[in-house]
Amino acid sequence: MSAALQGKAALVTGASSGIGEATARALAAEGAAVVLAARRLDRLRAVQEELRAAGSTAHAVELDVTDERAVRDAVRSTVETLGGLDIVVNNAGLMLLGPVEGADTTDWTRMIDTNVLGLMYVTHAALPHLLRSQGTIVQISSVAGRVAARGAAAYNATKFAVNGFSEALRQEVTERGVRVVVVEPGTVETELRRHITHAPSKAAIEQRVAKIRQLQASDVAAAVCHAVTAPAHVTVNEIFIRPTDQA
Ligand code: NDP
Repeated sequence: MSAALQGKAALVTGASSGIGEATARALAAEGAAVVLAARRLDRLRAVQEELRAAGSTAHAVELDVTDERAVRDAVRSTVETLGGLDIVVNNAGLMLLGPVEGADTTDWTRMIDTNVLGLMYVTHAALPHLLRSQGTIVQISSVAGRVAARGAAAYNATKFAVNGFSEALRQEVTERGVRVVVVEPGTVETELRRHITHAPSKAAIEQRVAKIRQLQASDVAAAVCHAVTAPAHVTVNEIFIRPTDQA
């Protein structure tokens, strides 16, 4: 086991699958103690057990990031369990693609509640601890936070919001030693697309990605690790990472 993050305490949201799970594994492999948070406790527990078997400190915590009180409790229990908080990876998210015209607006509500408000609640609850530890907060945004595309308006809106919120936060806290990192992946092979409710959009994206070599969740996790293991005086503010095959 490498020791770049030995003694560091990390909280990863959306750690039950995909990028969050891979990031929790990568941080643990670098020596961090991790709290894995998401709604599917059974999946978190399976990862927790694997990490413990490999000698890491890992704790699974059931959390719906749209519930502000639950977020505050999860952050408090993370700090109590791990003795502090040095790294937060705000990763929980949904991508419910579809055109604006005729959209099921409950898709919009779910995305804004999770991708935007959930991330803001976690940031808000974690910030006093990160200021104390001079820690790092990693916001998993998306290419969709930089480039808008038809059929993705509401998802674009949430990820543009993440980028705007994070840049303003950066200006507020960087001189006090807190590093704000925004990671913007292109297409990653995960469960994300399975949840799309608009059938034509789901079919179109499945068709598009079938033709390319997608990023793997571990590729994004490696980018996160690169940022969080940089020397304290270096902030990797933004990582824009796409599959080579994605035009
Ligand atoms: P997954 O669907 O595999 O992971 C999403 C994670 O978010 C799951 O662990 C899920 O866990 C969790 N989650 C969803 N809603 C909530 C909630 N209300 N409270 C807590 N956890 C929640 O997809 P990815 O790994 O791909 O997605 C992770 C992030 O990466 C998202 O923010 C996504 O927008 C972003 N991203 C993904 C890209 C891709 O192509 N895959 C590209 C660019 C960005 P559970 O259901 O157990 O709660």
